[in-house]
Amino acid sequence: MSEHSNKLVIRNIGLLLSGKLEQPILDADCVVCIDGRIAEIGRENELDVDRADTIVDAKGVTVAPGLIDSHVHPVIGDYTPRQQQLNWIDSCLHGGVTTMISAGEVHVPGRPKDIVGLKAMAIASQRCYENFRPSGVKILAGAPVLEEGMVEEDFKDLADAGVTLLGEVGLGSVKTGETARQMVKWARKYGIQSTIHTGGPSIPGSGLIDKDVVLAADADIIGHINGGHTALPDDQIVCLCEQCQRAIELVHNGNERSALLALRTASELNQLERVILGTDAPAGSGVQPLGILRMIAMLSALGDVPAETAFCFATGNTARMRELDSGIIEHDKAADFILIDRAQHAPGRTILESIRQGNLPGVGMTIIDGVVRSHRSRNTPPATTLPELVGL
Ligand SMILES: [Zn+2]
Repeated sequence: MSEHSNKLVIRNIGLLLSGKLEQPILDADCVVCIDGRIAEIGRENELDVDRADTIVDAKGVTVAPGLIDSHVHPVIGDYTPRQQQLNWIDSCLHGGVTTMISAGEVHVPGRPKDIVGLKAMAIASQRCYENFRPSGVKILAGAPVLEEGMVEEDFKDLADAGVTLLGEVGLGSVKTGETARQMVKWARKYGIQSTIHTGGPSIPGSGLIDKDVVLAADADIIGHINGGHTALPDDQIVCLCEQCQRAIELVHNGNERSALLALRTASELNQLERVILGTDAPAGSGVQPLGILRMIAMLSALGDVPAETAFCFATGNTARMRELDSGIIEHDKAADFILIDRAQHAPGRTILESIRQGNLPGVGMTIIDGVVRSHRSRNTPPATTLPELVGL
C-alpha cells in the first residue's frame, strides 16, 4: 500500500449482495477498498482494516453493488430537454443508480442526421460525460444513431475516437434488418457495442421494429424487449428470447406485462443471466429516479424471483453483458456501492422479504469509486436504519 493510497472500510454489513447470479449473497460483513477498487471482502476480524481514510459503519444494513441503468437518453450535463428537467441524474443517484449507459443522445435539439455531424456529436458526448460526472454518476455516453449511408470507415473513425456504444438501432433512418445487420457487424468489428429499439414507435416520427428486424440485426442488446413504450405481441417476445442469445433488456418505461413475459421466458430457458434492466428515461412518461429499484421490486414481486436475484439483473448481469468493471462485489472491481435497508414500516421481516412483497427499499448511502456521494436518499422511502460515516 503506497503512502498516498486512499482506503475505505465498510464494516458491520448485515447482508452483502454480490451482483452475481450464481451466488447472490456473500458470507461477509466487511469490504476494504483501496483507491476506488475493491481490495478485500470477508469478516472484519480477518481483514486489514487499519489506517483507513474513510470508515463507513453500515449498522447492519445491506450493501449491494451500485445499480446500473442500461438504457438512458442523456443530452448534456445534468439537464434533459425531454421534460425540461434539471438534475435528473442526481435524482437517480438517490435511487441507487451509480452507472448509466446511453442508448443514444436522441433528445438533443437539432440532432444532426448527416454522417459527419452525427459522428461529431457522438464523440463530443463521449468526451463531455467522460470529463463531467453529474453528482459522481458514471455516464457512458456518445452513442451515435445509425443513419443510411454510413460505411465501414465511419465505424472505424468512431472507434478510433473513443466511441464504444451505438445508440438504439432503428431510431435513425436505418430500419431494415439487412442494413442494420451490416452496420452492427462493422461496429462489433471495431469494438463498439450495439443495442436495438424493439417494439412500436416511441414518439411521433419513430417507427416499428419487429422481431424479424431485431433477429436480423443481431445487436448485442435486445433494447427494451418490453417496448419503449409499445411492446411487440407476446409470441414475438417469446421468439426473441428463444431464438437469439443476446441480452434481454427490460425497461421501466415499457410494458410491465411484457417485461414479466420476457422474464418468465428467460427463466424457463434457464437463461436469467441475459436479463438486464434500464429505465429508458428521460421519456414521454418522464424521469423516474427510482425506476431501477421499482423494476427490481416489480420483477421480484410479480415475476416470482428472489429479491437478491432481481438485484443481479441491475448489477452483475448488466456489467457482464456490457463488459463493465463494476456491478459485482469482487476483488479489483470498482468500489461502487449502495447501502440500503428495509423501508420504515414496510411489511416483511427482512429487506429481501419486503422487496419480494413489492416494496422499495430505502437508500441510506451511495458510494462511487470509493467515495461517499450521497447519504439518506431524498427520494426513496426512509430506510429503517442508516449507515454512518465514522469520525477518524
Ligand atoms: Zn427505444
